[in-house]
Amino acid sequence: MPELPEVETVKRLIEPQIVGRHILQGIALHPQVIAHPGADVFCNALRGQRVQGTDRKGKFLLINLESGDDIVVHLRMTGSLYAAPTDFPLEKHTHVILKLEGDRELRFVDMRRFGRLWLLRRDEEDSFSGITKLGPEPFAAEFNGGYLQDALTNKKRAIKDCLLDQHIVTGIGNIYGDEILFAAKIHPQRPASSLSAEECQRLSELIPQVLLRAIEQNSISPEEYLKEKGRGYRSTPYFKVYGKRGQPCPTCGEPLCRVIVAGRSSIYCPSCQK
Ligand SMILES: [Zn+2]
Repeated sequence: MPELPEVETVKRLIEPQIVGRHILQGIALHPQVIAHPGADVFCNALRGQRVQGTDRKGKFLLINLESGDDIVVHLRMTGSLYAAPTDFPLEKHTHVILKLEGDRELRFVDMRRFGRLWLLRRDEEDSFSGITKLGPEPFAAEFNGGYLQDALTNKKRAIKDCLLDQHIVTGIGNIYGDEILFAAKIHPQRPASSLSAEECQRLSELIPQVLLRAIEQNSISPEEYLKEKGRGYRSTPYFKVYGKRGQPCPTCGEPLCRVIVAGRSSIYCPSCQK
């Protein structure tokens, strides 16, 4: 699933290709991926609107329109979003197309069809997408050791589970949860409330560091991105522990172990992570 670094990568890639362009037409090939409002209303409302910018909140990507309306996108498991020339071959699982001026179009493709789009009108209260329930961004000043310590007090759940809780901090999923806890030398099953003030501080500094590094490593050219049809940008070769069960720990050489935390597979080093 795309996590914060991947959504940020998508945002940075598509922004220069769509900003300033008018939307000529919205086409919903599979209306069920449009969560709000209905697909017809969604498409009609977009016609003639001009793209002003893009934004990201956690794993949500926002396309800001000059009218004050926002298109909100969540890629979920297998969604991808890319701008293409209109004559670029259409993929099988293309669900939504926004035709833009200048013979370009923005395409939303999703094999498993869990991804969703919303259109929020200016002044419309967002009770739909879930964005308003998100905790702080890892890069926000309010996200610091003190905040994290407060947020984890009385949490008997495993720290890995808490890192994936979008109310505590937004943007982290299973992959970067493993990478962050390895960097912090904290065992994924530790009860969150057992973390010391020093560990909370360290974690609050490492979370943005690990995510930023991944954003840098994800970086690909718009040409490569299009060739891969909005996929293939994840910094897989750079993962230190995720997906590497049984392989030697990059720090101490011990074989990495796997444990299930809150129903999710977690990879960790039994010797480095206490
Ligand atoms: Zn180790």
